[in-house]
Amino acid sequence: MTAHGWAAVTLAGLVLAAAAVTVARLPRRRPPAPRADQRAALESLPADAVARGRAFHRSLRPSGYATRVLSLAVALLLGLTPLGARIVGVVGEHWAVRAVVGGLAVVFLASLVTLPLAARREVVLRRYGLSTQRWRGWLVDVLKGYGIGAVLGAGTLLGFYAIARYSPDWWWAWAGLGAAALTVLLSFVFPVLIEPVFNRFTPMPSGPLRDTLLGLARRDGVPVRDVLVADASRRTRAVNAYVSGLGPTRRIVVYDTLLERADGAEVESVVAHELGHARDGDVVTGTVLGAVGSAAAVVAAFLVGSWPVLTGLAGVPSVADPRSVGLLLALAAVAGLVAGPAQNAMSRRIEARADRHALALTDDPATFESMEARLATINLADPDPPRWEHLLFASHPATVERMAAARAYARGER
Ligand SMILES: [Zn+2]
Repeated sequence: MTAHGWAAVTLAGLVLAAAAVTVARLPRRRPPAPRADQRAALESLPADAVARGRAFHRSLRPSGYATRVLSLAVALLLGLTPLGARIVGVVGEHWAVRAVVGGLAVVFLASLVTLPLAARREVVLRRYGLSTQRWRGWLVDVLKGYGIGAVLGAGTLLGFYAIARYSPDWWWAWAGLGAAALTVLLSFVFPVLIEPVFNRFTPMPSGPLRDTLLGLARRDGVPVRDVLVADASRRTRAVNAYVSGLGPTRRIVVYDTLLERADGAEVESVVAHELGHARDGDVVTGTVLGAVGSAAAVVAAFLVGSWPVLTGLAGVPSVADPRSVGLLLALAAVAGLVAGPAQNAMSRRIEARADRHALALTDDPATFESMEARLATINLADPDPPRWEHLLFASHPATVERMAAARAYARGER
């Protein structure tokens, strides 16, 4: 069998593996709580808060859609015309210089184009009082992001094109393994290497709340060494919590804004949701799916990228040539467009499971509901967003669905 044959078989195997992981680890789809409960939940929210959340999202919508359209258009322009190849060709003749300097130039160009729209979004966040940043701090964040992107990007581009150069027929196997390993490594080191670049994390000060939260984790059978507090207030008034990392780097993080603006029982409800993620190994599932998915993407890039029509449009001899970075960017943009809604659908199911866990663990649906209402009001959520927008872009169930789930739980529907 040829290298192409093996690549096709490998891709099929990876797709099957991803499907098996999804079936084994993802909760079954459950219908959301009754619409009547959702309507009642919506009625219970202050009308001015609902109106404000909707107005906020109306203001964000134009820059949000423009960003999506523009990033796709630029990626296609760089990959399906010789423009990307020309930019890489300008930086020199040596393949490694082309891979790193030329590759980063193309990637940053694609990202710089949408920077004015990111600034526009920040303007809206400030107008609605959600952002607490000044332009200086905002710019520092952007530059830090570019710095991290440059380090990771340089390593990835150099590694990828080195492998492609030395093994023109089989690079997909080695690069696929490398992509999977990199995904696992990043998930592992993200909380200790990358998150601290943007925020300071301190252990939650000792006191009754900390004792309650650690007691909750013990009762839940989830080993949690500490609950960390992030200084999110340097950037935002929004409240949130999350769990990240794997094994020894796993941590539950709450925003300082949450501690400031929610009462103790509500914080407990939020942490109970995060414990659900930890207990069900949602970060592990995400990492495994990410690793299999990135390996599949590499193999698919080999197969699709050897289609002469595409390399012809991009003006490159093959994907193994460093001038192909624009073509790879275009393929990734199209793949992201297709994969995004599927990822969000999976995420919503996982989030609904963590909500069920929080309700069962705290057995306090009233607090869960008031916490959801508070989260929506402070974060300017649209509690009942347009259906198709929700299906395409939402990573979490809508506020009214989450509040309705608490109402159903309170009635004994589990
Ligand atoms: Zn969650």
